[in-house]
Amino acid sequence: MKKTRSKSHGRKITVYKSWKELPCVPVSMPSKGSIGETGDWRTFRPEIDEKKCNKCGICYVYCPDGVVIFKEGAVPTIDYTYCKGCGICMVKCPKKAIEMIRERQ
Ligand code: SF4
Ligand code: SF4
Repeated sequence: MKKTRSKSHGRKITVYKSWKELPCVPVSMPSKGSIGETGDWRTFRPEIDEKKCNKCGICYVYCPDGVVIFKEGAVPTIDYTYCKGCGICMVKCPKKAIEMIRERQ
């Protein structure tokens, strides 16, 4: 973990190298909501480049919908039934291993 200064706001932010460094936070688990499967909302889908991924698990921790499936030592997979395509996992990935690809019509 290291402290660095944000370019846009000048505030210090903490950069984590592994999910193990993060404090405990509540994570909601994916389930069918009152308006159905939230993966239908998606315009862009996250795709993980297995060659770039270092299996750190950061995407698993930051996904607000809990749809990144991660087992220690393995490249994560994504449950597209509930992934909304928000792109947070792509922004937080330290290896730039996640690309957002436009869904086909
Ligand atoms: S996709 Fe990125 S954030 Fe997720 S485990 Fe791989 S390197 Fe880490
Ligand atoms: S795009 Fe959003 S909802 Fe989908 S896996 Fe990434 S963080 Fe989770």
